Amino acid sequence: AKEQGRNRFNYFTHSMQQQARYRMKLIQELREAVTGNHFEIYYQPITDLNTQQVVKVEALIRWPHAHRGHIPPAEFIPVAEDTGLIIDIGDWVFYQAVQQVVAWRETYGIDIQISINKSPIQFRDEGARFDAWLNYLTQNSVAGGSICIEITEGLLLEANDNVSTKLLRYRDAGVQVSLDDFGTGYSSLAYLKRFDIDYLKIDRSFTNQLDVDENNVTLCEAIIVMAHKLGIKVIAEGVESQQQADILKGMGCDYAQGYFYSHPLPTEQFEQAYLKHNKR
Ligand code: C2E
Ligand code: CA
Ligand code: CA
Ligand code: CA
Repeated sequence: AKEQGRNRFNYFTHSMQQQARYRMKLIQELREAVTGNHFEIYYQPITDLNTQQVVKVEALIRWPHAHRGHIPPAEFIPVAEDTGLIIDIGDWVFYQAVQQVVAWRETYGIDIQISINKSPIQFRDEGARFDAWLNYLTQNSVAGGSICIEITEGLLLEANDNVSTKLLRYRDAGVQVSLDDFGTGYSSLAYLKRFDIDYLKIDRSFTNQLDVDENNVTLCEAIIVMAHKLGIKVIAEGVESQQQADILKGMGCDYAQGYFYSHPLPTEQFEQAYLKHNKR
């Protein structure tokens, strides 16, 4: 038993060492990816359920790794947050999104709103960058409303004046705000009243059970009714079937996003599928 215990201990330390080494390597590679601009942005359409038009997309970052295919954001975003690299990555995503708005406008004559994800950490050190972002919008003649930021309930939970002040600056600039993953965190209706939010995104754990779980229907319906009373539009995430889309439309949901419509696509594929008919 003693022998076994020691082996287990050895095995444990070994795997911890491996984990630590893997993490160090990932951090190093992430740094290189940031300086070398190795990221890409994929765009996932957000469909207006009333018109069936796509006038919004969510920007989702991709990291094509030299030897490992795409490393999923769920794996590297937390590391980027821990190391502060998320700040530079967030900058890159923002500038990229603004350029994309301009490019689509020029090539296809269409104004598409791009939603970008912001983790709470990105808010901490936004002060000086914020003015640079606004300048960039102005220089490129892009209205604030062409950009939407997606934040999570966690940010509102640590809510202090700082957060509301920052959100107000976005509002003043015309930038819209979505509350992401709604229903998964400490969802509080108080946030919705206290912060001026434009969209609420119902988490996919609710939407993709709509056709099998009656309780989720009740929940989604309640969220939609409440949001509308507060002047907030609702986006359903993770819609994977026609049936789910129909139920959501029937409940008055405003927008839907998910594999049923499209996976997130690289720019060119998105253009091929959604914009080429508009080409000037
Ligand atoms: P999220 O913001 O909740 O993004 C939605 C995720 O759901 C995306 O995963 C998307 O590909 C996936 N998805 C979309 N439709 C469906 C569907 O019908 N079914 C299922 N099962 N999944 C669907 P992805 O791209 O792997 O991103 C994961 C998370 O990484 C995002 O979750 C977001 O929190 C974070 N993330 C992605 N890009 C960025 C970024 O540029 N900055 C920051 N800070 N976080 C990002
Ligand atoms: Ca999101
Ligand atoms: Ca989400
Ligand atoms: Ca509002």
